[in-house]
Amino acid sequence: MTAWLFRDFPYQRHAEARVVTSDARGIVLDCTIFYPHGGGQPGDTGTLVRADGTVLPVVDTLKGETRGEIVHVLPAGSLAPGAGETVTLALDWERRYAHMRMHTACHLLSAVLPYPVTGGSIRRDSARLDFDMPASAADKDEIAANVNALIEAGHDVASEWIDDQAFAAREDLVRTLAVAPPRGTGRVRLVRVAAVDLQACGGTHVANTHEIGSIVVPKIENKGKQNRRVTLAAVVDNCPSR
Ligand SMILES: [Zn+2]
Repeated sequence: MTAWLFRDFPYQRHAEARVVTSDARGIVLDCTIFYPHGGGQPGDTGTLVRADGTVLPVVDTLKGETRGEIVHVLPAGSLAPGAGETVTLALDWERRYAHMRMHTACHLLSAVLPYPVTGGSIRRDSARLDFDMPASAADKDEIAANVNALIEAGHDVASEWIDDQAFAAREDLVRTLAVAPPRGTGRVRLVRVAAVDLQACGGTHVANTHEIGSIVVPKIENKGKQNRRVTLAAVVDNCPSR
């Protein structure tokens, strides 16, 4: 089973790891800083440096077939490392950090719009959530102003754990109906944005909302009865990482 370093250390950009398996799917390691595609957040990309110095691109990261397994996808034809080899990992940090900012912005959006979330997707400079909500709640400027107020307030973001039994009694902790939280390990990870938002989530987030920078709401689309797709976009000039 791979140790998921990105979950407790989302700002870690480099790591050493040992190859557990290496096959046509990709490389499985004993630990990783690469987030696997899931929950609307894309899989991480970056590089894997072999013991002899060969640099291989990691073009995607996916969940494997068994629980906890994470597969690092290399380009076809790569001279992949074999089991037992120690490799050095480096994230495409700008891309990952952009995902962390947009992902955290989605938590704020779901706090501003307290309706059931039916789907979502996170990209580098934008994100969208689908809400089961009435048309009267769909005011782009008002939503953006409310999300930006939460960003500017500088709320801390932290993770905590709840056991399966306590979690089962708290339906309010599941906001995205389409994404079932991981169960069966005895505990579920929660992400708390100060007193603003608390929900089950396995993604990567910034440590404080001010890191998100300003956002706009460029569009709200109708996707069926009461289903509205709200898109957020980063205001690039305000991004503190550039
Ligand atoms: Zn999250």
